[in-house]
Amino acid sequence: MAQSQQKEMESNVHIADTPITARNWHKHVNWLNVFMIIGIPLYGCIQAYWVPLQLKTAIWAVAYYFFTGLGITAGYHRLWSHTSYSARLPLRIWLAAAGGGAAQGSARWWARLHRSHHRYTDTSKDPYSVSKGFVYSHLGWMVLKQNPKRIGRSDVSDLNEDAVVVFQHRHYLKVVFTMGMVVPMLVAGLWGDWWGGFIYAGILRIFFVQQATFCINSLAHWLGEQPFDDRNSPRDHAITALATLGEGYHNFHHEFPSDYRNAIEWYQYDPTKWTIWLWKQAGLAYDLKQFRANEIEKGRLQQMQKKVDQKRALLNWGTPLSDLPVMEWEDFIEKSKTKALVAIAGVVHDVTGFVDEHPGGKAMIKAGIGKDATAMFNGGVYYHSNAAHNLLSMMRIGVIRGGSEVEVFKQTLKDRSSLQGGIY
Ligand SMILES: [Zn+2]
Ligand SMILES: [Zn+2]
Repeated sequence: MAQSQQKEMESNVHIADTPITARNWHKHVNWLNVFMIIGIPLYGCIQAYWVPLQLKTAIWAVAYYFFTGLGITAGYHRLWSHTSYSARLPLRIWLAAAGGGAAQGSARWWARLHRSHHRYTDTSKDPYSVSKGFVYSHLGWMVLKQNPKRIGRSDVSDLNEDAVVVFQHRHYLKVVFTMGMVVPMLVAGLWGDWWGGFIYAGILRIFFVQQATFCINSLAHWLGEQPFDDRNSPRDHAITALATLGEGYHNFHHEFPSDYRNAIEWYQYDPTKWTIWLWKQAGLAYDLKQFRANEIEKGRLQQMQKKVDQKRALLNWGTPLSDLPVMEWEDFIEKSKTKALVAIAGVVHDVTGFVDEHPGGKAMIKAGIGKDATAMFNGGVYYHSNAAHNLLSMMRIGVIRGGSEVEVFKQTLKDRSSLQGGIY
């Protein structure tokens, strides 16, 4: 009885939640995905050995790479995952067809995972979390089975309203077969290279588009700078941008996901942004969303400030004022007789070891000993540099009660004590 109960409990545990062992590893593998993203490309590579690459077919394969790649970056990603702009019906059909040709699942499936990725970046609910390693974020998450309950929830109800997305999702296999294999083959067939079209513009081109997209999940969370926020892994790098049709400015993208741009500088490589802009000129796209430059600069400045603060914390700035002992003015005068003490802005500094080194000469500094030298230090005699201010704060030893010699207060005390017969 106990044994059967245990078996039942085990069968309720998703395979992804059990450790990989020599006996169960094959159950962890998603064999369909392995066939799609490793098996088919491997077959293409082997076939390429026998099929000579014609120049026309090569040009067509590269052109079709950009066409289907843009289906992912401008369609699946910036339009459907982030609604960073709106597209008219012909453009949506075009993008659903092109994106389908990239063989990366339906737009609806892709956007759902991508929205979870943004919402739960780097956590266990992130479907392709880089915190599980570079290879996992690149393709491990597809090669190994995942427990669907683990992936963070995201809302794609808006996509259910888009007839193009719904149609593409329902007829996905037909779309991927037609756009991924048949079209590249038919076009190359125009110059008689059917088989070359199938291998180069079909299979191998799919392989490169897939790998480029996978780089957004791996490389863009691993290589580069973090000018906007360093709490999570996304990074900006020109090399990632080159490989991904401009999706390499990923730190910016995670910070401002509904901006139709990934690169904000004119000289940065973002062909996806340029294409969306051209579609706008052609009347196919509208309502391109852009964060205000003021808000973007705020983010950049806050991150810079954080870095500066971190560096600042590494240096010794002298004992903090709040940690210094409080001294009476008389105390300060008394101690000045044995040590070279100067009071500047209510803070007592021991300059004993510095008298001989003072760039302005011994006499100058000695003139301030046992006195309030605030005016002397702050421009009364000489306008001291930042370096001098910093050096001075390293010599702090105490603060004076009341900030300086408080004559009025002392006079009041004297008057009171004489009135009360010296009791005070
Ligand atoms: Zn990301
Ligand atoms: Zn995104």
